[in-house]
Amino acid sequence: MNAPLNAAASGQVVTNPFPVENGELVIGGLPLSRLAARVGRTPFFAYDRALLAAHVRALRAALPPAVHLHYAMKANPMPALVQTMVGLVDGLDLASAGEMKVALDAGCDPGIMSFAGPGKRPEELWQAVAAGVTINVESEGELPHIRAAADGLGVRPRVAVRVNPDFELKSSGMKMAGGPKQFGIDAERVPDVLAAIGREPFEFVGFHVYSGSQNLRAEALCDAQRKTLDLAVRLAAAAPGPVQVLNMGGGFGVPYFPGDQPLDVAPVAENLRMLAEEARTSLPGATLVIELGRYLVAHSGVYVARVVDRKESRGHVFLVTDGGLHHHLAASGNFGQVIRKNYPVAVGTQMGAPATENVSVVGPLCTPLDLLGDRVDLPRADVGDLICVFMSGAYGYTSSPHQFLSHPAPIEVLV
Ligand SMILES: *Cc1c(COP(=O)(O)O)cnc(C)c1O
Repeated sequence: MNAPLNAAASGQVVTNPFPVENGELVIGGLPLSRLAARVGRTPFFAYDRALLAAHVRALRAALPPAVHLHYAMKANPMPALVQTMVGLVDGLDLASAGEMKVALDAGCDPGIMSFAGPGKRPEELWQAVAAGVTINVESEGELPHIRAAADGLGVRPRVAVRVNPDFELKSSGMKMAGGPKQFGIDAERVPDVLAAIGREPFEFVGFHVYSGSQNLRAEALCDAQRKTLDLAVRLAAAAPGPVQVLNMGGGFGVPYFPGDQPLDVAPVAENLRMLAEEARTSLPGATLVIELGRYLVAHSGVYVARVVDRKESRGHVFLVTDGGLHHHLAASGNFGQVIRKNYPVAVGTQMGAPATENVSVVGPLCTPLDLLGDRVDLPRADVGDLICVFMSGAYGYTSSPHQFLSHPAPIEVLV
């Protein structure tokens, strides 16, 4: 249990969070082969409910109670998983009306939901106003539609402003703020937008600042949080009402690759505690929120594919599986990676067996991009064996081009 994966690859620190029994990975209490039989076919994504809950609770316990924890649904919007998350977090962050439907179906209170994202269509804004979720305004162009919805529905919309700050989150996997961006309203223009909001029959909720994703450096996160609070305090002077909510973003990263050191949450939690304390006087009445996607869900998910062919080409072994890039774009290295690195993979029915060969794990697509593991050290695997890709609870199923090559879509189970 908790053994390093691909241990032969130097610097590997990603560990297997699942128990192992009789050499098999155990997910949701079921040995992998039994689970695969229950699911009925491969490939599939399996999410471990108990592991998920334990992980979210542990983070919740580490964070100061005054800071609210939201789940950013786009990381994994599987309805059953979202329903589980609703019981574990303080709110949900949505990126579309489709996600809003899943959240509402899951029984989430619209009062703790916020809807961010560029290019919200007028009908989506109407839906959000009708539902009573907070709209994080990303563009002045959204205001007339929100106003029309207010008039048309006789509802007072809840509106926050997503700010494109004048700083960026350092050493982030994906920078989403600072400089020209399609996200949020440039900080220098926010006072005018606040004035415009003040002239509308809207309830002003607060600010949202999201500066980046996949950050493993506590120091960088603390720095961005500090700057976010300072910026919000400055902008609050021009706000049409008190700041009820300051959504400070998230960006907590997870270790995917050899050499990645897990994020040290303690200093980030301590920084948040300090900022929350400070906000009691600088932003009285405001609730601080952090919104996390992958950090909450990545590690409790596994992608499972079956070896359908084992072939050798000029001395190199290829394990050809029934799963690949079309199901798990991120693991293939084509979802925002600059240099391709392997997600942690294992033969799920031979856990703990020594790695005896160096192989490439590929999928059935006619492209060399369809690679789940490039030259990884694994125990010998044959046709029928189950290959597991770890850290697959986030940005897997819904982030992948299922239709590409017209193979069947994978199954998702929460176990
Ligand atoms: C994508 C996104 C998130 C979640 O990002 P993770 O890296 O999965 O934590 C949170 N907030 C916003 C606004 C996003 O766009």
